[in-house]
Amino acid sequence: MIIVMKPGASKKETDHVIKTVEERGLKAVLLHGTERDVIACLGDKRDIAQDFWNAIPGVEKAMPILSPYKMASREVKPTPSQIRISKGFSFGGKKIGVIAGPCAVENKAQLLSIANSVKKSGAIALRGGAFKPRTSPYSFQGLEEEGLEYLAETREEVGLPVVTEVLSPEHVEMVGRYADILQIGTRNMGNFVLLKAVGEQPKPVILKRGMSATLDEFLLAAEYILSRGNTNVILCERGIRTFENHTRFTLSLSAVPQLKQLTHLPVIVDPSHGTGYRHLVNPMSKGAVAVGADGLLIEVHVDPEKAFVDGAQTITTDNFDTLMKELKPVAQAVGRDI
Ligand code: PEP
Ligand code: MN
Repeated sequence: MIIVMKPGASKKETDHVIKTVEERGLKAVLLHGTERDVIACLGDKRDIAQDFWNAIPGVEKAMPILSPYKMASREVKPTPSQIRISKGFSFGGKKIGVIAGPCAVENKAQLLSIANSVKKSGAIALRGGAFKPRTSPYSFQGLEEEGLEYLAETREEVGLPVVTEVLSPEHVEMVGRYADILQIGTRNMGNFVLLKAVGEQPKPVILKRGMSATLDEFLLAAEYILSRGNTNVILCERGIRTFENHTRFTLSLSAVPQLKQLTHLPVIVDPSHGTGYRHLVNPMSKGAVAVGADGLLIEVHVDPEKAFVDGAQTITTDNFDTLMKELKPVAQAVGRDI
């Protein structure tokens, strides 16, 4: 059930509703809207009669949520959520945000030069993996905490917020100390213990779609994070497994408008992992913007041939600069800025 507060309801009235919900053994999660706040009541228990809520000061109405993803659904919050990641940028507004950087943090000099370059080209955040989920246990696994230190130092020196993946619940606290945004990778979308752990800390989370997950499973994974109290979730379509073998994964661009119809959460696209090939990153980025993506996550390196990880799908800093310029008219054509 959701309780929709009246526009202009006071904090005291909202707090009273939350307390009343919790006294009845349900979990109350507050969602701030532009005009009014909504309180999602979560739990196994039967809802209390709607009339009961209608009589409480500040309440406009109470209604059942039919969608299985209660907090992620547009039923609960018809307007898009804006997820603030820095002083200057929120995902989910008119401006499309591009996050760029290497697949893996390799060393400080590498990260710094890529960060300076992508910032100049207009990236709003820097990506870089410190814990790498590799298919083979013999492949480079990342610099771990040393990599996180380089990310945090680079943020201070360049002035870009940093995004990095967290692989296990015991690392959530540590990664959260260094990073501005935590990433949950495709291989962990169904790791419910990890989802709950990132749901219990305040930093925004980029949740990548499991490579074999349906959109319902994807949204229920987001629900794990939201229902623990962290409402700062950004969904990322990163390609799914199909029979096609000309690309590493099949980038499902139709997922973008479909998700945006189902959920108020921002949706971004990763054309690097989604295709596996650098020559496809530029056209698929444009496609993603054209179908309404709120952002892009792109692997960029000064010298992709020498990248420790995912060189084949990584574009050069020069190609990234060109791409950012070419994305402008595409964004404008669909009423957005970049
Ligand atoms: C990544 O972005 O670094 C990554 C490993 O992506 P994915 O989880 O989508 O494979
Ligand atoms: Mn990668």
